[in-house]
Amino acid sequence: MIAGLQKMTLLDFPGKVACTLFLQGCNWRCPFCHNSGLLSGPAETPMETDAFLRFLETRKGLLDGVCVSGGEPTLHPGLPALLAEIKKLGYAVKLDTNGSRPDVLRTVAENNLVDYVAMDIKNSPAMYAATTGIPDIDLGAVEESIQYLVSSSLPYEFRTTLVHPFHSDNSILEMGKWLSSLVPQKKPEKLFLQGFQDRDTVLFSGLSAPDESVILRWQALLAPYVQDVVIRSR
Ligand code: SF4
Repeated sequence: MIAGLQKMTLLDFPGKVACTLFLQGCNWRCPFCHNSGLLSGPAETPMETDAFLRFLETRKGLLDGVCVSGGEPTLHPGLPALLAEIKKLGYAVKLDTNGSRPDVLRTVAENNLVDYVAMDIKNSPAMYAATTGIPDIDLGAVEESIQYLVSSSLPYEFRTTLVHPFHSDNSILEMGKWLSSLVPQKKPEKLFLQGFQDRDTVLFSGLSAPDESVILRWQALLAPYVQDVVIRSR
């Protein structure tokens, strides 16, 4: 299940010095995915869970958080047990998810196995299938995850990678309206916007990021629907 480990990051877990764990496999095929090698098949150089836990033992006092990313971590039946082991060692856990498994999200949250969630919001409902590469995408599951996070007290962020030609003024506006409509009494707290960055591990070539001026316009379009819309640059 563990496909890779980044031994230290100051960027992935707000306020924490963390490592990032990449779990193999994803149920979606976003054309702009940076981790195309993680989407299907066995991991090229898998890491045993015990070896990872031993690594965490040696990093006590140096790291204080673990980001669990992918792929899509919630697909793994062993996720709750893995998170429990990480928590037992005293680390805070951040979970990255595409929101397709609200049942797992709820389980790990309600068992105090996660301290922070970052969930992708890919696009407007009408553009979700094209943006995830899944024609029969289960939007209901995504909506359930959004509703759960907005309603719960668990710290979270939403994040959208902006990619030409998937995003437009119209899709961004519709995404904002959709996000704010799912829990009418409470606006989503925070949405990060990040421009797509091309790499040689991206699933499809020929994609690009919108210009900075366009991203600023989209930030303004989203402002009425989310408490805080932040442009993230890396
Ligand atoms: S971007 Fe995320 S959700 Fe999309 S295919 Fe890649 S790992 Fe899966």
